[in-house]
Amino acid sequence: MADTQVLIVGAGPVGLTLAVDLGKRGIRCTLIEQKEAPAFLPKMERCNARTMELYRRMGIVKRVRDAGLPRHCPMDVFIVLSLVEPPLWRLPFPSVAQAEQEIAASTDAAMPLEPYQLISQYTLEPVLKSIAEELPSVAVRYGHELTAFTDNGDSVAAHVRHSDGTPLDITADYLVGCDGGASDVRKQLDIKLQGDGNIGQFRQALYRIDDLYERIPIGNGRHYHVADAHSSFLITQDSTRHFTLHSILDSDDEMDRMLEQVVAMPLAYQRLSCAPWKQNLLLADSYGRGRVFLAGDAVHLVIPTGGLGMNTGVGDAVDIGWKLAATLNGWGGPNLLASYDIERRQVGERNVAASRFAATGRRKWRAMYRPNIRDNTPEGSKTRADLIAVAEVEQRKSNEMIGAELGYRYVGSPLIADEGEGPAHEFMTYVPSTWPGARLPHVWLKDHTAVQDHIGYGDHYTLLRFNGADASGFAQAFRQTGAPFMILDLDDPHVREIYGYDLMLLRPDMHIAWRGNAPPKDVAKLARMATGH
Ligand SMILES: Cc1cc2nc3c(=O)[nH]c(=O)nc-3n(C[C@H](O)[C@H](O)[C@H](O)COP(=O)(O)OP(=O)(O)OC[C@H]3O[C@@H](n4cnc5c(N)ncnc54)[C@H](O)[C@@H]3O)c2cc1C
Repeated sequence: MADTQVLIVGAGPVGLTLAVDLGKRGIRCTLIEQKEAPAFLPKMERCNARTMELYRRMGIVKRVRDAGLPRHCPMDVFIVLSLVEPPLWRLPFPSVAQAEQEIAASTDAAMPLEPYQLISQYTLEPVLKSIAEELPSVAVRYGHELTAFTDNGDSVAAHVRHSDGTPLDITADYLVGCDGGASDVRKQLDIKLQGDGNIGQFRQALYRIDDLYERIPIGNGRHYHVADAHSSFLITQDSTRHFTLHSILDSDDEMDRMLEQVVAMPLAYQRLSCAPWKQNLLLADSYGRGRVFLAGDAVHLVIPTGGLGMNTGVGDAVDIGWKLAATLNGWGGPNLLASYDIERRQVGERNVAASRFAATGRRKWRAMYRPNIRDNTPEGSKTRADLIAVAEVEQRKSNEMIGAELGYRYVGSPLIADEGEGPAHEFMTYVPSTWPGARLPHVWLKDHTAVQDHIGYGDHYTLLRFNGADASGFAQAFRQTGAPFMILDLDDPHVREIYGYDLMLLRPDMHIAWRGNAPPKDVAKLARMATGH
């Protein structure tokens, strides 16, 4: 028997999410991380609505929210000259509290079940780490670096080095490399990244400024884009006491001067870190090989514009998680793990494209900057008006990609019934759909409970049934595959109308595998297909 069923390499948000997912499924897994402890370094700060839906299913959404930006704080996006001058443009976004009210009042399927949550990556990682450490089947080992591995065909032998230099060998049934953009696991598999690397380079500084948040005269928000020649922007972090400044500048001192210029108030501040970071739009040729899989930044690198980096990786973790569990539990057929690359690489490809779309938009309005932007002259006024006219269309692309977040659908998967071409993939519009491969749209039932909360978290397939439709053969067909299965009867004409079918087969990740108004001719074949046989 292997030392562990799944060895996860890398405790970034993706590896940690996978450890929590597998741990909740009772799979024995070991998470190794080369760092001694989570680092207090800034990176992502927004979990999107889909990530928060997935965290709700895992039962951890409250812990993530409680650690993040307080629920009443607005999420507005500004374009400014400084924090003390009237903003050039303001794009309002609801606080979590307001968004929850909007979701509670929604009657169609156009909204997610959970709103986004601003939480800094340096806060999220410790939260996920402590959740993973509470799960009895998960071993979390910081200070452990993977140095090499061998896929032996029936297991993987990993060579690990403890930070004190002690070597350690770990055998695992499967290995998942969640080891970030410079992934050694990917390199050892000789899988290449394709696309555009090092497109631009910014500096990012993290500041502690205790008195700023309450004193910003133009109002609180999430992002303050500065209309300047350095593409500067200031981001509120979850504590409201920390801020990151991004700017195309060469030195830490210049970053401090830029901060002073943007804040434009005499406030004490402390620079906690400052480092350059590069923009990339890259996708791996493949998401794994043999018993070794890759997830997160190891396989897709996007420009943070649009927030599709970690959020795409969380989707990877959830997809590979249930498929590994099903395979290890003995009922998953070979197509389950094979489908991971097919399903998630297409999402990676679309999200790299979505990030390019958003980043190109942002560059368009920034290109309208002219040195006279502050001038109280007709020319200065024209510069401001022209920049805002472009931003009105182009900046929204970074902040309103709800279609990319919620509307992704697995196309051409061996686990999904084929109904033909299907609806187009939109970045900025979410059109709810029960087309096979889609995420089950969220709708409130008559009693104001959510359909997904009736399904729970586990490894089971679910047949949603309306009007007591004939579901004969399903239970037996799934029994033959060994996969857990349940029927959920719903008596709700409104929801039936939105979903459009009397029967819908959901996978354990609540993506739709099949839909119809009567059982298919060969239910056993459908069950075998959905379970990867
Ligand atoms: C400025 C900025 C802002 C961003 N904002 C957002 C946002 O708002 N929303 C969003 O979704 N994304 C955002 N991102 C992207 C996001 O930060 C990344 O997508 C995310 O960190 C990827 O997570 P990961 O777990 O795949 O990889 P990482 O976070 O890179 O984690 C990989 C881990 O693996 C460890 N590791 C590497 N090699 C080994 C080894 N050999 N052995 C053991 N451990 C190893 C590393 O130490 C690291 O802890 C942003 C990024 C930047 C730079």
